[in-house]
Amino acid sequence: MNPKALLILALALVALAAAPPAHAAEVAKLARVETPTPASKDLLQTLGLDLTESAGRTYVDVVLWGDEDVLALHKGGFDHTVLIADLGARTRENLAKDRVWAAGIERSALPSGSTGYRTLAKINEELRALAKDNPGLVRLITLPEKSQQGREILGVEIANDVEAKDGRPVFFNMGVHHAREWPSAEHALEWAYEMVKGERAGDARVKRLNRSIRTIVVPVVNPDGFQISRTFGPVDNPDGGIVEAFAYKRKNCNVSPSPSACEAEPTQGTDPNRNYAGLWGGNGASALQAEADYRGPAPFSEPETRNVRSIVSTRHVTTLITNHTYSNLVLRPPGVAAQGPSVDEPTYKALGDAMAAENGYTSQPSYDLYDTTGTTEDYTYYATGGLGFTFEIGASEFHPEYKEVVAEYDGTTKIAQELGGGGNREAYFVAAESTADRAKHSVLQGKAPAGATLRLTKEFDTLTSKVQDAAGNEGAERKLQDKLDYSMTVPPSGSFTWSVNPSTRPAVAPKAGRFPTGTPSDPIELQEKPVPPGGSVRIPFKYEEKAGRDDGFMTVAVTNPAPAEDYDIKVFRKRAEADGGEIDEGGAASFVATREAVTIPEPEPGDYELEVTNFAATGTTYTARVTFEGPKPPTEGKTETYRMTCEAPDGKVLGSQDVFVVRGEVKAVDPCRTATGGAGGATNPGPGQGQGQQNQPQACQSRAGFISASAKGAGRSGAVDLTFRRRVTQPVTVDIFQQSRGRKVVGERLVRRFTNKSAAFRWNGRDKRGRKVPNGVYFARFRVQAPNGQADTVRVTLGRSKGRFGPRRAFFARESCGTLKTFKLSRPVFGGTRSNKLGIAYRLNQAARVEVTVTNRRERTIRRFAAKQVAANQTQRLTLSPKGLARGDYRVKLSVTQGGKTTTSVLTANRL
Ligand SMILES: [Zn+2]
Repeated sequence: MNPKALLILALALVALAAAPPAHAAEVAKLARVETPTPASKDLLQTLGLDLTESAGRTYVDVVLWGDEDVLALHKGGFDHTVLIADLGARTRENLAKDRVWAAGIERSALPSGSTGYRTLAKINEELRALAKDNPGLVRLITLPEKSQQGREILGVEIANDVEAKDGRPVFFNMGVHHAREWPSAEHALEWAYEMVKGERAGDARVKRLNRSIRTIVVPVVNPDGFQISRTFGPVDNPDGGIVEAFAYKRKNCNVSPSPSACEAEPTQGTDPNRNYAGLWGGNGASALQAEADYRGPAPFSEPETRNVRSIVSTRHVTTLITNHTYSNLVLRPPGVAAQGPSVDEPTYKALGDAMAAENGYTSQPSYDLYDTTGTTEDYTYYATGGLGFTFEIGASEFHPEYKEVVAEYDGTTKIAQELGGGGNREAYFVAAESTADRAKHSVLQGKAPAGATLRLTKEFDTLTSKVQDAAGNEGAERKLQDKLDYSMTVPPSGSFTWSVNPSTRPAVAPKAGRFPTGTPSDPIELQEKPVPPGGSVRIPFKYEEKAGRDDGFMTVAVTNPAPAEDYDIKVFRKRAEADGGEIDEGGAASFVATREAVTIPEPEPGDYELEVTNFAATGTTYTARVTFEGPKPPTEGKTETYRMTCEAPDGKVLGSQDVFVVRGEVKAVDPCRTATGGAGGATNPGPGQGQGQQNQPQACQSRAGFISASAKGAGRSGAVDLTFRRRVTQPVTVDIFQQSRGRKVVGERLVRRFTNKSAAFRWNGRDKRGRKVPNGVYFARFRVQAPNGQADTVRVTLGRSKGRFGPRRAFFARESCGTLKTFKLSRPVFGGTRSNKLGIAYRLNQAARVEVTVTNRRERTIRRFAAKQVAANQTQRLTLSPKGLARGDYRVKLSVTQGGKTTTSVLTANRL
């Protein structure tokens, strides 16, 4: 913290100590504070003001609670303009307008028809009525803990056969972490009506959702704060009468040691949306009770946040939306820029963008606004893997006129209509349908005795940020014991399907990256142009991909000789199409710096422009340069498993197993049988099973690219159909290699390469020059980048004879998470005119005893390699000579024995 900020802090503390409920008599304003640079935004965050989520590149909207807040702005050197001069009066005016509006209509376009803001009592009454009137469809939920002031916190769960304890995934929709954000309760509650009324009306889409997912709605997470805000403050206000500023209360009522003191002063309390454990105590949350974003005395110090934690740690919430107001945003983790993109960024961004296409909001990572820590989805996502979002509803007010609440839900706002979107109604449908989409979570399937209880548990430590003190000095991280504990009951059929979140927490998962395929490009020196003060210039440059070069990052930087000067820069890329416009690749605008730089990951070739703006430079000299760095390799990270147990209806534990599962994977499990002697001998646990291991090898993650891949001859035409299904969005490369011609082994001859494939396609069976390829043995190699940055590779053997392609047995096993990691033959063919030997290679994830035998077509063993104990993570190589072997197929059998259990894998090669 700089000295100026420290001084202001000291002043604020003095003011706090001296002036008791000074705010109570003052008028609260909404003001737009100019923050021309990111550094000024950082400084603004240290002033202890009530910042809203409405912020742009050069401003942040702030609630000013009284003269001392205005003073703090002046002392900090900030300019501001008042947007709403008297927030309390504004609320009163809005409510008066609402009454006039409501008088003129029978019902609104909302599912419930509601025509005005509800009170806390009304919300709870409606939740109770929804449950009472819709047995079997709606269940009332009372959250485990009461609020600071002892209020019950209610919600509803909605699903077809809601009382069943089945394995459907959960969409959790909630509102009012922040007391003054009334529309957030309205939208969450209306979503409950949407699902109930749609079911009753026979709406096919709603009925499908109520059968495939469960919906949990908690409209008011923070009832104490909401009650104060919604009623304009306490009835027994010491000054008498209504204190309108209370309508703008943000926090809860943790006013240690006496929660009732909450009624004395609207700025009391803890900010529940800074109190969650994940990353708690870092940037963008205050250590001071008086401040608007006070994080609380400890992570999860508040019953309101512990309630939300209890839901996500006992129910498989695969999608979560926490509603707030305002500023038209769909925010996703991380809240802190330094955290870097999450391991699920492509999936996460796609879902956020799809919702934003409905409500017209801006979809972006949370830190794009400013750094925040201790927020809802930063905890729930990093601890459980469920995809959580913050919606900031509305353009300009915390609780605008009610008809705007209706328009935001119904998609009749200007921005939603321009996009053709359906508002938050349709955005929530996108979230609900994504909840039902198995590609977005994980699925466990198997058989178990009907009525048995299946349980999934995981224990771990959640880490906070390096906890900052009131002056912003970083201390140690704190560890918090966390436990996830989910259960379901096996249905009468004995077959179960359980939608779960991935077993590895995103907090510890390996981060994607890639290994370089060349050296970085040489720097490009740009020709600088003079910029007059207050003006800007554009400097064009071209970026091309060159052979042998691999650029993971391109950095465009402007350096000026004196720190007093202030250039800001932006980089644009021209779209390839004519008149396609340009893409903003990012900007840099430090407050006091001699260098401004923009780094663009995975730069695309094309025409770029650097825009240099002279903010406060006295001279006009600077140097501009483009430099390159190689890509970052994937980080190690670790992988985690769930403990899965199976209990009979009488409570007896029948069995258990460790389960490793990644996003998009459907995994067969057998938790009820392990205690009764295992699955009996030579069953192959199947790739990716990885039972009994706490820390799974990273190899398992490499399998997360493809769900399946296959190559099939398309008859007499000589064509081949190449099909695949992916768990990732990255493009697929398919290479066709020729392996033999007649009796000759030709090695790996690449005959065709297909890149950037996203769907099945047909290869016409011809080489690059259009010639039909000759008869012989081939294989198709499918490759895609898995989330850990490594390639997931599948090889499929093909034989071409008489001009058409047909299937062949595999010579290559896909990487596995079981005891056997890799197993491959050097080629699908050996012998031939050059007597090529056959190479056999394998590698284990865990030490085990291994035996390799080779059999001929008649299943007669022709070679046995002595069984031996083999260590983990060392590639073992064997060689088979073709001498004395007749032509035909040979099967290489590899048996791995570990813990009394043997698994056998078989690969095949043809002796030519
Ligand atoms: Zn909020």
